[in-house]
This record gives sequence, C-alpha cells and structure tokens, in this order.
Amino acid sequence: MALTGLEIYKQLPKKNCGECGPPTCLAFAMSLAGGKASLDSCPYVSDEARATLESAAAPPIAKVIVGAGENSITMGDETELFRHDKKFYHETAITLRVSDALSDEEIVARTQKINDLVFVRVGLEYRVQAIAVENASGDADKFVAAVTTVAKNSGLPLVLISDNPDAIAKAIDIEGVNKPLIYAATNDNYETMTKLAIERNCPLAVKGDNLDDLASLVEKVVALGKKDLVLDPGARSLSRAIADFTQIRRQAIKKKFRPFGYPIIAFTTAEDPLEETAEASAYVSKYASMIVMNTVEKAHILPLLSWRQNLYTDPQVPIRVEEKLHEVGNVTPDSPVYITTNFSLTYYSVEGEVEATKIPSYILAVDTDGLSVLTAYSDGKFEADKIAGVMKKLGLEEKVNHRNIVLPGLVAVLSGKLEEESGWNVIVGPREASAIPAFAKTHFA
Ligand code: SF4
Repeated sequence: MALTGLEIYKQLPKKNCGECGPPTCLAFAMSLAGGKASLDSCPYVSDEARATLESAAAPPIAKVIVGAGENSITMGDETELFRHDKKFYHETAITLRVSDALSDEEIVARTQKINDLVFVRVGLEYRVQAIAVENASGDADKFVAAVTTVAKNSGLPLVLISDNPDAIAKAIDIEGVNKPLIYAATNDNYETMTKLAIERNCPLAVKGDNLDDLASLVEKVVALGKKDLVLDPGARSLSRAIADFTQIRRQAIKKKFRPFGYPIIAFTTAEDPLEETAEASAYVSKYASMIVMNTVEKAHILPLLSWRQNLYTDPQVPIRVEEKLHEVGNVTPDSPVYITTNFSLTYYSVEGEVEATKIPSYILAVDTDGLSVLTAYSDGKFEADKIAGVMKKLGLEEKVNHRNIVLPGLVAVLSGKLEEESGWNVIVGPREASAIPAFAKTHFA
C-alpha cells in the first residue's frame, strides 16, 4: 500500500528549510506521495526514516530484470491478486529448455526453432522470451559449450540451470551472455551462489523444498545482500504448485510478507506437449512470472501466448488500432471501402476476411475508444455524423473515385443518416465479418 502524504511527513525532519525544492517538509511529503519527488532530495532524512519509507514504498512484489538491452525481461512489480482489480503488469516470460546433453547440431537446431517462435496477433508481436540451458549432463565443460552455442545463435536472455557454481560462473563469462538468471540457490549451495550472483550482478533463483523452507532460505540470501530474487517453492505437481504460488502471491500482496515479495518461476512436468501447454496456461494464470517448458512447437506455444496476451491486457483499456484508412492489398481508386471500429479484435477479424476476398480494399477504422461495433453504437461512439466526419478528415474522397461505403450490418440503422451526413451511397454489409467474402463476391467481384 502506498503511503499517504501525512504518513510520509511524520518521518521527515520537519526543518522546513526548502533545500529539497518545495518550501516545507509537508509540501515535499505531498510531492513524494504523488511520485513527483525523490527521497534523495532531502539531505537531512535519517537512515531509520529512509529505511521505513523505502520499505513501505516498495512494491509488494519486487521488480527483477533478466538479460540486458532490448530483449531483457522484466518480471514481478505486480500489485494485484486478481487481474480484474486493476491489471497485471509484466507478462509471464515463456522460457524454453535446451539440455547440454544434446549434440551441438541439435542445440543449434533447437535454438533456431526457439528464435522463430514469434507471432503477430491483433496487431501485436509476441514471442518466447528466454532460453533455459540445463546442465543435464552434470559435466561443467558440456554446460559451458552448450551455453556458448546458444549464446552464439540467439540474442534471448538465458536461465542457467546447474547446481555447480563453477559451471555457472564460467557460463556467465561467455560472450553474449548478459545478466542471466542463475538457477538456483538451495540449502546446500546458497552462500556460494549468492556470492556469485552478487559479484556478477545477476538475478538469482532461490529453490526451497516447501514454502517454509523457501521463506527461510530467502531471508538468508537477503541477509547476504542479494535482493533481485526469483522464487521456486520446489513443487512439481500442478495442484501443489498452484497452491504454493497462490499462497506466495497472497502473502506478498495482502500481508506484505517480504520473503515472498519476488517473482515466481515454474517448471512444467507433463510429458505430453498438449498437457504441458495446459499446465503452463494454469501457471500463467496463477501466478508464474517465468515458466520453463520443453516443447518448441508453434502449435503448442501459440495458444499459450494467446492466453497470456488476454490475461495481461488491461481490462479497462481495449486493444485498439490506429484510426486511419487501412489498405489491404494493392489498392486502387476503384477499391471498395469498408467501415468498422478501431477495436483490435473487430478490426483484425474484418481485415482477415477482407484479405480472404482477394479484392484489394480500404478499411476505415473509426476511433471508438477501442469498442466493438455494437458496444460503440450503444455508447454513442459510432454514430453517422462521427463516421462522416472521419471520412472527411482522412480524405476518403481523394483516395477513391466512387462514392460507396460498406457499413457493418449490425448498425444498418445508421445507413440513412450516414448517407445524409456524408453524401455517399451506403451499402449495408454483413452482420458478421465471416460473411464478408461472400458479400464481396456479390458486390465487388
Ligand atoms: S530538505 Fe528535508 S528538512 Fe528541508 S524542507 Fe525538505 S524535507 Fe524538510
């Protein structure tokens, strides 16, 4: 919970010297509460007050970054138990496993396959974000060789899985390996692994045998000075893992229990790839920030990423496309013009069907704040005068040499008014996008 201005004010020195910028401590406290100032601006704040304010202001789940540069992954920094309360912020990083027991050729092939797992859905690109290299052979040299091959063939961030700190230390030094997630500190090795993670400035996964064990291990690691941690409570059955992850999230959000205030890593165990996808989708929902999986097949990853995209979309802000005259194919001045709204799912449903007609066409997407056709109409955001205004604003009459537009059948009631407002001939189109190919064949082929 964020602190109020008054709660912050109680911790300040109350000298009212103005050195921080605002003239009084109270004004400074209000700026801090609003996120418009930094505590560092006050040179007189005591260490005790600083510790109180920083820990109270810290997010319930710490932000942890794996990798560096444009491919880096941000995990955690979540504030909600339920997505409908506000939103989830940092989508689960889907991470695919590469074993060092594979041959070099197999590692190259698998890595390239992982690189190719990039999809575009409703206008957004989404992909697998990381590769977990596993020291399944138990041989440090093989592990280093496998990490070298993966790093040479992929720019994705890495998770280094080994219980051998020396092997991990060597792997971190390989060219192309940037701030990998070290997996994992356990009861047997936490001192060495923590030291290594601090020295190399890498995030560190902490693996306990159960929740109590995990909490106590995290406290020991934090006491050694490591704070960017990822939690693994050790459960490998789906039901146990979901119960543990839910408990961790609940304790972190509702009770601010600091040992559980870190992102969670999950490992799938199902051997059947479809079952693995179902297992992973449960972890996306509850509450894994990273999932390490085995399958590298598009057919298994695509539904998982689609589910993740749905869950991590802000429920209060529909995904939308730009309000503009979109071109489908090599349009000419004779091309038909379809009208729709800028709600992504609506727009891309229409675009897909228009593409299927194989008749180059324009689609005019009217900005309805991302609402679908009927919702926007009910909300007064998809009215005849507005559509006519957008047609004019986007210069539709200069783009085509005819004066026909296709209106979604769901709002056929607008056709008369739209003809009056625009001066164009309105053709009432189908109610469903799926009927567009048949409609186009009748009207434009
Ligand atoms: S610098 Fe510190 S003591 Fe001075 S006014 Fe600002 S908050 Fe108060």
